[in-house]
Amino acid sequence: MAEFIMELNDEQKEVRDWIHGFAADVMRPAAAEWDEREETPWPVIQEAAKIGIYSLDFYAQQYFDPTGLGIPMAMEELFWGDAGIALSIVGTGLAAVGVLANGTEEQIGTWIPQMYGTPDDVKVAAFCSSEPDAGSDVASMRTRAVYDEAADEWVLNGTKTWATNGGIANVHVVVAVVDAELGSKGHASFIVPPNTPGLSQGQKFQKHGIRASHTAEVVLEDVRIPGSCLLGGKQKLDERLARARERAKAGGGERVKNAAMATFEASRPAVGAMAVGTARAAYEEALEYAKTREQFGRPIIDNQGVAFQLADMRTSIDAARLLVWRASWMAVNGKPFTAAEGSQSKLFASETAKKVTAQAVQILGGNGFTREYPVERMHRDAAIYTIFEGTSEIQRLVIARTLSGMPIR
Ligand SMILES: Cc1cc2nc3c(=O)[nH]c(=O)nc-3n(C[C@H](O)[C@H](O)[C@H](O)COP(=O)(O)OP(=O)(O)OC[C@H]3O[C@@H](n4cnc5c(N)ncnc54)[C@H](O)[C@@H]3O)c2cc1C
Repeated sequence: MAEFIMELNDEQKEVRDWIHGFAADVMRPAAAEWDEREETPWPVIQEAAKIGIYSLDFYAQQYFDPTGLGIPMAMEELFWGDAGIALSIVGTGLAAVGVLANGTEEQIGTWIPQMYGTPDDVKVAAFCSSEPDAGSDVASMRTRAVYDEAADEWVLNGTKTWATNGGIANVHVVVAVVDAELGSKGHASFIVPPNTPGLSQGQKFQKHGIRASHTAEVVLEDVRIPGSCLLGGKQKLDERLARARERAKAGGGERVKNAAMATFEASRPAVGAMAVGTARAAYEEALEYAKTREQFGRPIIDNQGVAFQLADMRTSIDAARLLVWRASWMAVNGKPFTAAEGSQSKLFASETAKKVTAQAVQILGGNGFTREYPVERMHRDAAIYTIFEGTSEIQRLVIARTLSGMPIR
């Protein structure tokens, strides 16, 4: 197991500076335009693909970095650049993690490259778990997957919502119910290959923030996919369902992870790192502004009321980053989250981003309230972090249940 270190090594610093350069030179100048257009910034994704930031290789290199700091470092820099564009760049990663967490080696090798495409023909992927009546309450999911044994095909029916890249993705990863009696333990994840008949985009949402990222409903009508598209394979699913049925008969017992939860657990520290990136961006804008804006004949930072806010902002951001790095190191090294450290990191970092961006707006005064200054956008963007991949309330539930061992509701 790699030791937990709190400093990037020279190689990681080089990668960080390279991503930072892309975030500062390509993403920042494009941020306001794509926020207004509320469209996927394909040209920026393509630029990222050309230099290797949008690629399976880059993602895998960071994902398998034994220090655990590769992904948080990359996420922080990209989301420092711009949250909406960055989500368009890394949204594919959530689907890729869904395959990495639940898929066989063959499935990983077949589908993840198709999620990214090539620099000349970039593609994106979508992870579809949420439904109109199943957001936090994943167990209420209704999308059904039925096995047609004669054809060795699965047939999917249902409506997914809030899917990042939903409907515009080349590859969709869909979580569906295979055994309704088992609740969330009866779920499985499926690959829907490119151009599969029956999958269509429903409503595209107009959002408060991260507007450069496409969010939409995905409608599945008699979508037939080969048996090989069940992530993990049929034998593993049958064994898992048999164990879950045994435990249900015996009245509960050991917890069995469901498919969506396996994806979210691995990705929560990464979402925390995104929040750290947005928070740091807003803090830097506010610090610079406070040093240069003069009122009453002196820079506004001369007032403790402003300076102390900046001190608190920076302290929270650094604390959030440490929680994120710890959780990410634990996840990569297979150390179990005995105190829900992944959820802790996501909870604290996302709440920090919301608070820090609001403080930044306040420090910029009237300017902070206008689209002339980026903190206005950062404040809108930050609101997503306490909502997606499990709201703050759900993170608190996970933490409290883990700590107490009690079924707190
Ligand atoms: C921009 C965006 C992108 C997204 N991308 C994806 C994606 O790519 N794939 C995907 O599958 N999903 C995605 N989501 C969905 C996201 O994960 C859900 O919105 C989130 O899980 C919350 O579900 P909900 O919106 O249905 O809220 P609800 O579950 O209805 O919650 C509403 C409120 O009630 C609170 N609440 C609910 N239950 C409890 C409880 N037991 N105790 C205390 N409070 C509770 C919640 O915390 C929240 O404040 C995305 C959402 C957005 C907005």
